[in-house]
Amino acid sequence: MAEERRKFHNIQKVDIHTYKINKKKLKRFDSHLMIFNRILLDENWSGYKRSEREKALKNIKSKAEGYSRIDYALSEAAWTLHDVWLDAFKQDRISRPQESILGSDWYKDELKIKDSSKMSINLKKAAKFFGADLVGIAKLNRDWLFKNWGYSFEPINFKKTIKNVIVLGYEMEEIGLSTSPTAIAGSVTALGYSRSAFTTACLSEFIRNLGYEAYPACNDAGLSIPLAIDAGLGQLGRNGLLITPEYGPRVQLSKIFTSLPLEPDKPIDFGVEKTCRICRRCAKSCKANAISLDEEPTYSSDYKSSSQGTLKWYVDGEKCYEFWCDNGTDCSDCIVSCPYSATPVHVTSEEFWKKI
Ligand code: SF4
Ligand code: SF4
Repeated sequence: MAEERRKFHNIQKVDIHTYKINKKKLKRFDSHLMIFNRILLDENWSGYKRSEREKALKNIKSKAEGYSRIDYALSEAAWTLHDVWLDAFKQDRISRPQESILGSDWYKDELKIKDSSKMSINLKKAAKFFGADLVGIAKLNRDWLFKNWGYSFEPINFKKTIKNVIVLGYEMEEIGLSTSPTAIAGSVTALGYSRSAFTTACLSEFIRNLGYEAYPACNDAGLSIPLAIDAGLGQLGRNGLLITPEYGPRVQLSKIFTSLPLEPDKPIDFGVEKTCRICRRCAKSCKANAISLDEEPTYSSDYKSSSQGTLKWYVDGEKCYEFWCDNGTDCSDCIVSCPYSATPVHVTSEEFWKKI
């Protein structure tokens, strides 16, 4: 199916990434400005200390379609692996309760790699084996690393040996997502996070078993979208999301920063910017009016939580998050409305639960 979708688009491999930068405005992103950190830190914002909980509990009582107890049971369960397995995105080898049958030293020397393109094929096979739907490789552009870690706010200074980034994509299931903005659609997003925890952890261990460094991250550590563009997975859309030829913006992302010698992929161009100039479906579907309807993209915006310096349509993360609070769960309207997602028109919760 993914291959058929690729064939549908006129995909050009290009030598230089498809985004445009204003170097004067570009700065490494400060994690204090991430919307989820500002909820706890920014007393001057109306979203300070707001959460989805209050409305979610009201929703459950009201038994509204897509927001019932059973719908929220699904979404909370879908977060399980991501929320429970805190070691999944650990920066060191994951500790085992018992020694491996190979002992505790066998993986420590580096495997000699003569052919990085052959290693890249092995790596991509392993990524898909562990559950990724998409995988791309780029030389690490350090402009895309955050200034500091999202939880500890410690500076991020990867060693010089960390030369590559592997970006992984996970398809988000179209039927459930089409119920957006319900708790069922929220379950699809949550499942993407749990899948990414499993796959990213296993692939990082694979790299460490070859004697190389692997630093896995979900939304933390660096800007996933430009890294994914560098790795040839897609282009940036008006909705501020990665648009892939296979699934449009219907993908969750994670990444691994590594010293493993690999062959980078080329970025791709399949005409997303041109389409976004005229389409605007995501902006029209957004109940929070958080997405720009402007014809021209810009290099900067007033939005505190956006990284500045890239030519794009800026998305107002504050309005978006406050809509999630008003809604009682997150939202995927700007994903399902995108023609690249190829989702069915609005699916009801009843239809979702019936389709086994
Ligand atoms: S997630 Fe929903 S509220 Fe946020 S930008 Fe997209 S459509 Fe708007
Ligand atoms: S909905 Fe249209 S404007 Fe928005 S990202 Fe998709 S193609 Fe671009």
